[in-house]
This record gives sequence, C-alpha cells and structure tokens, in this order.
Amino acid sequence: MINGNVSHWWQQIGAPEQRPALPGDLSVDVAIVGAGYTGLWTAYYLKRARPELRIAVIEARHAGYGASGRNGGWLTNAITGGREQYIESHGFEAAERFQRAMNETVDEVIRVADREGIDADIKKGGEFNVAYTPAQEARIRAFAASEQRSKHTDLQLLEADEAKAKINVAGTRAAVWHPHSARIQPAKLAAGLADAVERSGVEIYEGTRVVEISPHRLHTDHGIVSAEYIVRATEGFTAGLKGLRRLWLPMNSSLIATEPLPQHVWDELHWSEGEVLGDFAHVYMYAQRTADDRIAIGGRGVPYRYGSRTDTDGQTPAVTVETLSEIMHRFFPATRDATIDHVWSGVLGVPRDWAATVGLDRETGIAWGGGYVGTGVTSTNLAGRTIADLILGEDSELVSLPWVNHRVRKWEPEPLRWIATKGLYTAYGIADRAELKGRETTSPIARIADVITGRH
Ligand SMILES: Cc1cc2nc3c(=O)[nH]c(=O)nc-3n(C[C@H](O)[C@H](O)[C@H](O)COP(=O)(O)OP(=O)(O)OC[C@H]3O[C@@H](n4cnc5c(N)ncnc54)[C@H](O)[C@@H]3O)c2cc1C
Repeated sequence: MINGNVSHWWQQIGAPEQRPALPGDLSVDVAIVGAGYTGLWTAYYLKRARPELRIAVIEARHAGYGASGRNGGWLTNAITGGREQYIESHGFEAAERFQRAMNETVDEVIRVADREGIDADIKKGGEFNVAYTPAQEARIRAFAASEQRSKHTDLQLLEADEAKAKINVAGTRAAVWHPHSARIQPAKLAAGLADAVERSGVEIYEGTRVVEISPHRLHTDHGIVSAEYIVRATEGFTAGLKGLRRLWLPMNSSLIATEPLPQHVWDELHWSEGEVLGDFAHVYMYAQRTADDRIAIGGRGVPYRYGSRTDTDGQTPAVTVETLSEIMHRFFPATRDATIDHVWSGVLGVPRDWAATVGLDRETGIAWGGGYVGTGVTSTNLAGRTIADLILGEDSELVSLPWVNHRVRKWEPEPLRWIATKGLYTAYGIADRAELKGRETTSPIARIADVITGRH
C-alpha cells in the first residue's frame, strides 16, 4: 500500500515535471497565488475575457498539488454549508439563484473539459446519499422535504428497495438522489486545466512560495511580484500566509483506494452509473467508483493539527486506513478481501461559519476565493468566473450571488482552536456510534456540536 505521495490520482498519471520558478521580480496585471482549481479557473476566465491581460500564477509546489489533486472527485452542486443559511440571510429567491448557478456550474466544468480536450474520467451519474440508522433516516427524510421546496434541487427520496437497486449499501433504510453531480479524476482535471491555462498565454511559476500578500504586491522566496490585482487562491494553506493564520482552519480529509474490483463484486454492488456516494453520519464519508473500477472512499481521519499545520505529501496514520476500511466493509461486505492500494490526505479550508466566500477589495486590489470546506470542486469554477467578473468590473448575475464579499470572524487562537476542533470531532464520533447502536433521533451531542461549529 502506498501512503501519501500526494494522491492516488497523481500516482495514476505520474508526478508532473515542475515548471520553472519565478525568475526574479515581475510586474503583471493580475498575480494569482496558488495553482489549484480556484487559481486556475480564475486565470482561465480572465484570459478568455481579456487576452491582452498579463497574468501570472505563483505556485509553491506544482499545479494541483493541494486539495485539487487529492479530493474525492465529487463534482457536485452542493452549496457549502447548505442553502438554508442563505435563505435566512438573503431570502429564498437569492438562495434559489445560488442553487441554479451551482447546477449550471457542474455542466460548465464538463463543457470546458470537453472544449479543452481534458479527459478527466468525468461521468455524470448524480449524487446518492444513504441513511443506515434510524436517526439518519429521520434526518434524510427531513432533508428531502426541505430540499424539495427548491425548484432547482431535483431531489428524489428513495425507499430502501429502490435505493439498494441503485447502490447496494448494506443496512440501507432510505436514500436521496439527484442528477446534478458527476464523478471526476481530480488530478487529471487539475493537470489538464493548468495546460489549457498555459496554452492561453498565462504564465505559471512553480516551486515559488509566497510569504506575504500586501496591497498590489506579493513577497515570494524568488522575488517581488507587483500587480494591479492579486488573487489569493490558497484555500487550506491560507493559514501559512503572514497575518492570515486564523482566517480559515486547515482541516484534513483522507481517502483510501482499493485495487480494481472484479465484476462479481460490482454485480453485487450495482453502482454502475458513476454516482458519487455519501451518507448521513455526522462524520460523513464520501466515495466514488473510479473509471478503472476501484472504490475510493474518504472521510475525516485526523481532522486538525495543532497550530494549523498542514501536511506535506499526504502521509496518513494507520488508524485512518482502519476507520475508512471498516466503513467500506460495513457498507459493502463483498469488499472485505479487497487490497487497499493507496491512502492519502489533503487539506481544505474551513471558515468560522462554514460558509465559502469570493470577493474583491478594490482598495488593496486583493481578491480571494475559498473556505469551501469539502465542497470546492464545483464551487472553485463559480469562484473563478466570479472573481474574473469582479476584477473586470462586470455587473453580472454572478457578482450578485449571496456568497460574494461575505466576511466572517476569525477562529479562536490556540490552544482553544485545537481543543475545540478535537472536542467537536470526538462529540460527532460519539453521536455516530450512539446512532449506529439504534438511537432513534439525532444525538443531542451532535446538535450541540452543530451550534458550536456554526455548521448548518
Ligand atoms: C481529501 C479531500 C477530499 C475532498 N473531496 C472533495 C470532493 O469530493 N468534492 C468537492 O467538491 N470538494 C472536495 N474537497 C475540497 C476541494 O478539493 C477543494 O475545495 C478545492 O480543490 C480547493 O481548490 P483551491 O484551488 O481553492 O485550493 P488547493 O487545491 O488547495 O490549491 C491551493 C494551491 O496553493 C498552493 N499554495 C499554498 N500556499 C502557497 C503559498 N504560500 N505560495 C504559493 N502557493 C501556495 C498550494 O500548493 C496549492 O497548489 C476535498 C478536499 C480534500 C482535501
């Protein structure tokens, strides 16, 4: 079993050859920090709209090194933190516009991949979430009723038999499915997008670390970059930048990938349409059937490291492999003998209120996109298009969406941050175990944890 080495996705396509570093001081129109999906989509749409702009992307390692090359490959229409918060803050219609934009963004990513010749193993089979305890069942039924109030969710509630015919998860009591999600191979999308961006004339400098972002200026370990606009696209790594330690909490998420599974296993599991699979546990799991017939299944692992430290190449503790394997075996007993080929982790950014944001401060010229928690694969494209519109001063539908220029308070200082995060995940774990033993309703421990985290 390979542990770390960035991700199984990069392992599959081979580590990329690093592009040259920044050769020294540079002056451009737009400087983007981070070559993940946020930075690359922003560069892509800016350059398409204004080919004359000089745009540079500055990346500490290589394009797709972060979460964009490591994630679970859910290209989903989910709004980070849920639509409910926007109904409360901006009203029903604004939340509806946001949902419609997310649906359209799933198709936009698929369309651009096609246009740019990016083969990212994309298969749009929708999103399937399952409930396998009485308390989860109660939550899923309430969720379905709430989602069905929206015109754009297209959510179906499936009873146990119908659900098991789609994906045969042991112990299924009910499930929900909607069509607005696709499975992707994340590193193929990141690598293909970086090539497309470069082909369009954007400069990408790799192996170059930004130390500090100041108005119209980046201080890097290879020189100073001056620009009219700066885009901060560092998501889970943002805490490493000067002055931003408490903005977004770097949360770890981990995945395992099995060996390719034989046909007799798939005959039992069904799961043939490229659906992405999740559940209604508090510490939820997420999974996909890969294009080469593996199961890649992810979850929280060790969620947070003291002092907002981030990992290097995705090294993952053995206990996480055990936890994720145990979930997979419980869901799919037919996978008990499957070898685990790879385990890895990555880091994502969690704002204090669990709500993603994009924005631009005109005075400093600094734009940003991130805080997507675990739902950034689609949101990064919407972020990229929105940041491009903000920079270009377009009065578009996108810049009026309710996540634009949203500000949130900082996380608590250490050791409070560590104690709180560790305590909350312990609480969610206890709640899940109580529910697995048959508790009929959502554990009050989880309800209290939700209030404290600001999770909706
Ligand atoms: C394990 C895991 C599973 C996930 N699964 C899903 C999923 O299935 N579906 C979904 O929607 N979302 C998922 N997510 C979240 C999603 O992957 C992210 O939200 C998204 O990829 C964020 O993209 P980004 O470009 O903003 O950040 P990143 O991809 O993290 O890119 C940031 C880049 O900035 C670079 N960088 C950082 N600091 C500096 C610096 N100081 N100087 C220069 N460069 C710097 C990094 O090297 C990195 O390349 C998952 C995340 C993880 C970690």
